Amino acid sequence: MDGRGGKSVVVVGAGIVGAATAYFLSRRGYKVRLIEAVAPAAAASGSADGAVSVASKRPGPMMTTALAGIALYRQLEREGLFSGLFKQRPTVMVAEDESEVESLVGHADALAGEGMSLRRIEGEALRRYLPDVSPGVRLAIEVGNEGHAIGYEIVRRLIAASGVAVERDTRVLGLVDSGSGGSIAAVDTSRGRAEAEHFVIAAGGGSADLIGLPGIVRPRKGQLVVTERAPMLATTLPGALMSCRYLLSKDAIQGGGTAARRFGLVVDPLRTGQFLIGGTREETADTGNDLAAIRHLLASAVRLLPPLERLRVIRVFAGVRSATIDGLPVIGRMAGYDNLVVATGFEGDGICLGPLVGQAVSRIVAGEPGELDLRPFSPDRFAQRSLVA
Ligand SMILES: Cc1cc2nc3c(=O)[nH]c(=O)nc-3n(C[C@H](O)[C@H](O)[C@H](O)COP(=O)(O)OP(=O)(O)OC[C@H]3O[C@@H](n4cnc5c(N)ncnc54)[C@H](O)[C@@H]3O)c2cc1C
Repeated sequence: MDGRGGKSVVVVGAGIVGAATAYFLSRRGYKVRLIEAVAPAAAASGSADGAVSVASKRPGPMMTTALAGIALYRQLEREGLFSGLFKQRPTVMVAEDESEVESLVGHADALAGEGMSLRRIEGEALRRYLPDVSPGVRLAIEVGNEGHAIGYEIVRRLIAASGVAVERDTRVLGLVDSGSGGSIAAVDTSRGRAEAEHFVIAAGGGSADLIGLPGIVRPRKGQLVVTERAPMLATTLPGALMSCRYLLSKDAIQGGGTAARRFGLVVDPLRTGQFLIGGTREETADTGNDLAAIRHLLASAVRLLPPLERLRVIRVFAGVRSATIDGLPVIGRMAGYDNLVVATGFEGDGICLGPLVGQAVSRIVAGEPGELDLRPFSPDRFAQRSLVA
């Protein structure tokens, strides 16, 4: 069966990627079934810190794609879909010691090469720009045109606008081959079989087993802290403060680092006047918080922005990112199946990329050429096992 001509589609997973896919497909006139094991935003999309940012991306395809991701947030905000949900603000990357300055300058060159608007601030100007940060900060690079969005709010908005009723508490157990070769006929779920002409697997950490790529996606936990409101302090920060150590922690993991826990540091003043402080990168799927990690995050945050010491913590939480073994997401049609598309493995970047990826996936399903170069993210780079038992 060639499913490409039909208009019915099953989307597996109601995180930000599945929700965005459902939204863009329903706008194209597709009849969408959105099947979710738990509830919308039950996994990573509901426990992220929400930076919609290019600043932290590695040069190359992720940086280029993130730029397009932010542009789409701005467009959807202007058009009203994300009205009130996308806070535009710069990211301010800061470096303290010599090695951080060196790494930040190199990263700033890469960002400038992608056309990002940057401002380098040091010396007296730095003290005026960031009056409350530690005197230990030697260099700040302001990355303009970035923003913040709360993942579960975006998911809720996309689903409401799509008009699709989420099938909650329904786990997809496996794919059913059409038997005539080259296509999927249905998915088996904990509530029975769901047939359609197209299938999109956007199930985060649950995706790899379903598409016959077991082991390519690994859980990577992050712990985060939210403070009480402190609007006055928030007004002294032009945007999110990102310690250069955040980049180093991401790089260490992508370079094959093996330590079980790494710390980055981002202090983000939220729309509410609260501060979000993150986060860890831990090679585990457990979603608990522990005092040692929270204490470490708070101590680093207070060292960077001493007035935070006066604030009370009102919430700590943790979420699990889905990281691929080569650090790039998996987006595209599955080889050998003309009606099966996957989008997973967004690690710490899926809030930024989710709407864009949903739009791109809807184009793939419709068989239309996309504007994005998705070749670096093709599932073909991994050796696939049989999808069906
Ligand atoms: C601590 C933390 C901080 C982060 N910070 C940022 C950030 O600052 N900026 C940023 O851009 N990104 C950030 N992220 C990453 C971002 O949250 C994720 O990349 C993004 O949410 C992934 O979305 P998704 O839709 O692919 O997956 P998910 O949100 O994980 O959704 C997948 C859904 O599929 C469902 N599912 C799984 N298996 C099945 C199955 N078999 N059948 C049916 N349903 C299934 C799950 O229940 C889940 O609801 C962060 C993540 C964490 C954990």
